Amino acid sequence: MYIGCHLSASKGYKAMGNQAIELGANTFAFFTRNPRGGSAKEIVEKDVLSFLDIAEKEQFGKLVAHAPYTMNACAEKENIRQFAIEMLEDDLKRMEYTPGNYYNFHPGSHVGQGAEKGIEMIAEVLNMVLKPEQSTIVLLETMAGKGSEVGRNFEELREIIDRVELNSKLGVCFDTCHVWDGGYDVVNNLDGVLDEFDRVIGLHRLKAIHLNDSMNDIGSHKDRHQKIGEGHIGEAAMKRIIAHPALKDKPFILETPNDEAGYAREIAMIKSWL
Ligand code: FE
Ligand code: FE
Ligand code: ZN
Repeated sequence: MYIGCHLSASKGYKAMGNQAIELGANTFAFFTRNPRGGSAKEIVEKDVLSFLDIAEKEQFGKLVAHAPYTMNACAEKENIRQFAIEMLEDDLKRMEYTPGNYYNFHPGSHVGQGAEKGIEMIAEVLNMVLKPEQSTIVLLETMAGKGSEVGRNFEELREIIDRVELNSKLGVCFDTCHVWDGGYDVVNNLDGVLDEFDRVIGLHRLKAIHLNDSMNDIGSHKDRHQKIGEGHIGEAAMKRIIAHPALKDKPFILETPNDEAGYAREIAMIKSWL
């Protein structure tokens, strides 16, 4: 299986590759720039090449880079939206240093404009930034539906994808905490949820999993992650999720409240379940 967690990008790619190995991981996620700000670290070609060597030797799965939380492609304020476009364009250029990986982002928050308007704006931004020559697949993350988040159900993600011309460059990242908080019963009816995903979006779009337990009950729309097996999703359901035929070969990224040692333990625990 491919499993990893969020790593700090502050020391560069090679350092992330080595840290992943230390934690028992064979993929990882990282913020392409400061998650709450906008500044990006300069890419050093030699550092990237060292990382690519490590990734090949260790047979890493696809990386799942994460856009900053502050990016809002459907912001009402034009300057915030413009900032999102610039960040996306720059991030997608940077992603090509490590070709063929995933770039995940939160579709956005419509802040009172309504989901329909938000969906239109997000698609419009994707139509501006996606390029036929890019090797990166951009993932829309399934959201918990907190506040005015767009992507609170599979239908909203499908509506975005339908409006994007180069939608061969689009996929979906399935966040187990968000989907559960959004009202999908991955505990008692995982097959049913994945069938619905297939019917509405198509399982071929499901590229990566954010593996998180939830502090809250189904449909809470809260988005508070919990350690694997210690939340409302629980260990038995997590075991079914990582072994499900539709999911098992994809990269699983932990976004659980853990320090490094905690991630190493969690990764070892999940690997022991197989
Ligand atoms: Fe996320
Ligand atoms: Fe997530
Ligand atoms: Zn979350």
